[in-house]
Amino acid sequence: MSRIIILPAGLQNQIAAGEVVERPSSVVKELLENSLDAGAQSIHVHLEEGGLALVEVVDDGYGMQYQDMTLAVHRHATSKIASMQDLAAVQSFGFRGEALPSIASVSRLRLSSRPKGQDEGNFLEILYGNHLDHGPEAMNPGTRVRVQNLLANLPARLKFLKTRGTEGKRCSEIFIRLALTNLEVDLELFSDGRNLYRFFRDETLRDRLSRVWPEQICRDLRDVELDQGDFRVHGLTSMPENAQARGERMLFYVNNRAVRDKILISALKQAYKGRLLSREYPQAVIFLDLPPAEVDVNVHPAKSEVRFRNEKHIFSLVSRAVARSLEQNHFAVPDKPPEDKGLDMDPEINLDTTYRTGPREARPEMPVFQEDFRHEIAPDYGDSSPRKMPAPVHVPGPGLSYLGQIENSYLVFMKDTGRMLVIDQHGAHERIVFEDLKQENRKVQTRLLAIPVHVALHQAERSLLEEIWSKLGGLGFVLELQDEKTLLVKGLPDFMSSGQGLEALRSMLQDKVRDMDNILIALACKSAVKSNRPLTRDEALGLAHQLMQCKEMNFCPHGRPICMDLGSRELERLFKRR
Ligand code: ADP
Ligand code: MG
Repeated sequence: MSRIIILPAGLQNQIAAGEVVERPSSVVKELLENSLDAGAQSIHVHLEEGGLALVEVVDDGYGMQYQDMTLAVHRHATSKIASMQDLAAVQSFGFRGEALPSIASVSRLRLSSRPKGQDEGNFLEILYGNHLDHGPEAMNPGTRVRVQNLLANLPARLKFLKTRGTEGKRCSEIFIRLALTNLEVDLELFSDGRNLYRFFRDETLRDRLSRVWPEQICRDLRDVELDQGDFRVHGLTSMPENAQARGERMLFYVNNRAVRDKILISALKQAYKGRLLSREYPQAVIFLDLPPAEVDVNVHPAKSEVRFRNEKHIFSLVSRAVARSLEQNHFAVPDKPPEDKGLDMDPEINLDTTYRTGPREARPEMPVFQEDFRHEIAPDYGDSSPRKMPAPVHVPGPGLSYLGQIENSYLVFMKDTGRMLVIDQHGAHERIVFEDLKQENRKVQTRLLAIPVHVALHQAERSLLEEIWSKLGGLGFVLELQDEKTLLVKGLPDFMSSGQGLEALRSMLQDKVRDMDNILIALACKSAVKSNRPLTRDEALGLAHQLMQCKEMNFCPHGRPICMDLGSRELERLFKRR
C-alpha cells in the first residue's frame, strides 16, 4: 500500500489560496489585474465591509466564453502563457492561473462574463470550490466577478484578518497602486455604496497622485527621468524638505508591476543621502522599465517581489536617476526672471541698511567676500536669452543682496526675484568645509603643536583609533600612542584651532566614526563657524558666495536644511492666510 496520495484538487486550491488570497486586498489586486489583462478601459470596484462581505470588480474587457469560464476556475488554467519562452517574456500581470481557483475555494464566487460580439453573457457560481449554479445572464460586454464571504470556510485564517476599516484601507491602497500605473484606464472605487476614488482615463501621474497625497508634497514633486540603453527610470520624487517620518510613500513599479523591493528602496534612500535626517523618508513613485530577461517576476505567488539579474546596476541606475533630479539647486537659478523695470529696492539703500557688526578677532578659516566678483558675476537665469538686468554694481553675488544677520546665527538675503533667502551660517559653513575636504587630491597641511596634548583612551577607543589611523594621518593629524591608554596629539589639520581639532577627535571616538565621510563631517562640524557668532557683511557674503559654488547647497552634511527660500506663499502660511 502506498502511503502517498495526490491531494484532491479542492484541497490543492485551498493550499494555494494561503499564498495568493491572504486578505480582501489580495482579491482586489488579483481581480483588478485580470481586468487590466483583459484590456478593460473602465473598471469599477465595490467593497462591502472592507471587502470581507463583498469584493466586486466589473470591467468592460474582452470577456470570456462560458467554456473558458469553467476552465478559468481550474488551477494552472490561463490564457496568458503557453510555454517557457512565454513565461520568460511575460507582459501581462497574471500568468500562473491560480487566482480564480484559489479565490473560488475560499469564498462564494460568482463569475459573469459576456465576450464582445455575443448577445448575452453567462454566470457561474461556486461555493468553497464546489459548483453551485450556472446559466445565462443579461449584462454589458465584459466581466463581473463577485466574491462574497471571503475565508468564511476557514475560520482559522479569518481570525488573522484585521478590522473592516483596516482591511478596507488595504483594499484602497492596492487600488491606488494599480491606478498610478494604468493611466489609460478609468477606475472607480466604492465602499459600502460610497464613492472613495475616481480616476479618469488619460490623466497624468501627477493628476492621480494629487488625489491621494497631501497637497504640499504634490506641489513640489520633481520629475525623474533617466534613459540608459534598454533601461529607463522615470517617475516623481519629493523635495527633501517635504520629507515625512513614515516610509509608506515609496512606490516602485518594475515593468509596470507594483513591487516591494529592498534594492529599490535602498537606491532611493541613497539618492537622498545627506539630504534627510535619519528618521525621515522620501516620497516617490518610481517606474523601472527594463528587458524582461533582466528580471524574474515569478518569485512569489503574489508577484509583488522580483529578482534582478544585475542588482548593482539597478541600484546605481535608480539612485543616479533620483539624485540627478534632486541636484538641480533651488536658489542660484531664480524660478522667475526679474521684471524688466529692475529691482524695486535701490541696491544702494540695501547696502546702507545692512546690519553691521563691530570689530572682532580675525578668523582666517571664514571665507571672505572678494571685491572683484561683485562686478563680474551677473545673475544666471539658466538660459541665454538677453534680459535687462538690474545694474550689477553693488549686487553682491549672483542675484543676492545681503540684509543682515538674525540673532547672530542666520543670514538674510534678498533675491532679485523678490524672494528672501535665509541661510543657517553654521550648516552652510559646514557644507563648504566638507566639500572642500572632499575634493580629490586635496592636501591638508599639518600645524604642529608647540606642546603635544595628552588624550586618555579606553580600550575600545584605541582599537577604533587604529582603524582610522591612516585616514587621520592623511588629514593632517600627527598622532602617537604613548602607551596603551594615552594618545599624544602632536599636530592637527592647519585649518583647525587646537580646541576644534581635539573636539573633532573626541566626537569621532564618541560617535564610533569609521568611514571617511563621517570623519570629514566631524572635521567640518567642529571647524565651521558656530551659531551665535556675529559675522561681518563681507564674511556673510563670502559664505553665501562659497555656498553657491558647492555641489549641494541645500543641505548640511548631516542632512539638515541650510537654506530657506521664502516667498509670499511661505509667509502666507506662517501668517495663516492660507
Ligand atoms: P491568470 O491571471 O494567472 O491567468 P487567473 O486565475 O487570475 O489566472 O485567471 C484565469 C484566466 O481567466 C485568465 O488567464 C483569463 O483568461 C481569464 N480571466 C480572468 N479574469 C478575466 C476577466 N476579467 N476578463 C477576461 N478574462 C478573464
Ligand atoms: Mg490573474
